[in-house]
Amino acid sequence: MSKSKVLIVGGGFGGVKAALELSSHPEFSVTLLSDDDNLRYYPTLYQSATGGSRSNSSIPYSTIFANTNIQLVKGEATTFDRANKLIITKDNQSFGYDYLILALGVVTNYFGIPGLAEYSYSIKTQAEAARFKEHLHKQLIDEGKPDLHYIIVGAGPTGIELAGALPTYVKQIAKNHGLASKRVNVSLVEALPRLLPNLPKPTSRQVKRRLKKLGIKVYLNSKVEGETADGLTINGQPIKSHTVVWTAGVTNHPFFLSNKFILMGRGKVGVDAYLQAEPHVFVIGDNANTPFSGMAQTALHDGAFVAHNLIRSAKGEMYKSYVVKKPITVIPAGNNWAVVDTGKLRFHGRLGFLVREAADLKGFKDLEPWSAATKQFFMQFRSEDGCEVCALAHARY
Ligand SMILES: Cc1cc2nc3c(=O)[nH]c(=O)nc-3n(C[C@H](O)[C@H](O)[C@H](O)COP(=O)(O)OP(=O)(O)OC[C@H]3O[C@@H](n4cnc5c(N)ncnc54)[C@H](O)[C@@H]3O)c2cc1C
Repeated sequence: MSKSKVLIVGGGFGGVKAALELSSHPEFSVTLLSDDDNLRYYPTLYQSATGGSRSNSSIPYSTIFANTNIQLVKGEATTFDRANKLIITKDNQSFGYDYLILALGVVTNYFGIPGLAEYSYSIKTQAEAARFKEHLHKQLIDEGKPDLHYIIVGAGPTGIELAGALPTYVKQIAKNHGLASKRVNVSLVEALPRLLPNLPKPTSRQVKRRLKKLGIKVYLNSKVEGETADGLTINGQPIKSHTVVWTAGVTNHPFFLSNKFILMGRGKVGVDAYLQAEPHVFVIGDNANTPFSGMAQTALHDGAFVAHNLIRSAKGEMYKSYVVKKPITVIPAGNNWAVVDTGKLRFHGRLGFLVREAADLKGFKDLEPWSAATKQFFMQFRSEDGCEVCALAHARY
């Protein structure tokens, strides 16, 4: 029996989930093309950016796909040759398919605001998190004191998680280097009138109270107009800072615009009831124009959904229609605290934090065997710093 060739482009939550679901079905030969060797586990990337271990937020494909027959290929997809059913990479490799699943994720968007691309930091990749950590050390050591302001732009989950964790990390670096204890001024800046604009107002209020308690200043209705080497301009006012982290904007992967997909609101790809953008071409996760696109849980749901439809089709059954699944939101802010919003239920505090821990363990379990998932989970308690002084201090604790 000839196998159907499934080509998955992008090895994040959606692509990996689709590959795993198909891996035990011999009627498919599955190729996963990714520009990385690891799955970026975004929900814990803020921990890696604030002193945590790099492997806390990175899972090698070799672990995820151990004992499967998924073919892994490294390459950056650039061109979609529709007529010949080919995906072509930057280094001119080309891959054919019977079914194509596109799951490329999103990219940072600075909305053309001058200076942000040059001067701001970001924590969307391991490399960016490492660069941010290095900057925090360098600034503190060079100036002998914390920056005047640590500014995080964007009061979505990433901005809040980072704001909650940053003061403790900066104080820890200062302590490791024997610098006098000083106040750490962290500000969270948001252009809209409230935090977490996509969540219900009581959740926003709860998180705002929590950030206030942690000493973080929240600036709402505040538009960033530009950044220079020495600061940020917000609503016409300059603020001195050498540490600005941009978490406020993403846009769909440029692959879709350059390859003439039909784009809908927020630049996401228009898909039908089976998540197809065109026959046999599925678009999932952050790339697809679905109601809860932009969440890891949605990408996992989409990856499983498309895989199950392909399995159904191989058995001669009809595709099922997509059913939207509302994700549960769990946002940590500082040590031992998180807010949980299930849509029906909302709570916060230590219980919320425990829910977040359980969600991460389940998240790892969805992608790795139990033993590897448990090991991954415990990585969150490990510290990692490029700085020798801090690494030695971690070893002593
Ligand atoms: C810092 C941060 C924290 C987050 N926290 C949470 C959270 O707590 N809970 C939650 O539900 N969601 C969270 N999200 C959102 C969530 O991570 C995304 O919704 C999810 O990753 C989307 O999955 P995806 O498969 O669509 O894309 P991604 O997971 O982004 O995967 C895209 C993959 O495609 C690869 N790729 C990109 N371009 C190419 C190319 N040209 N060729 C080949 N491969 C390519 C990338 O390397 C990557 O492997 C967070 C996002 C960020 C940035």
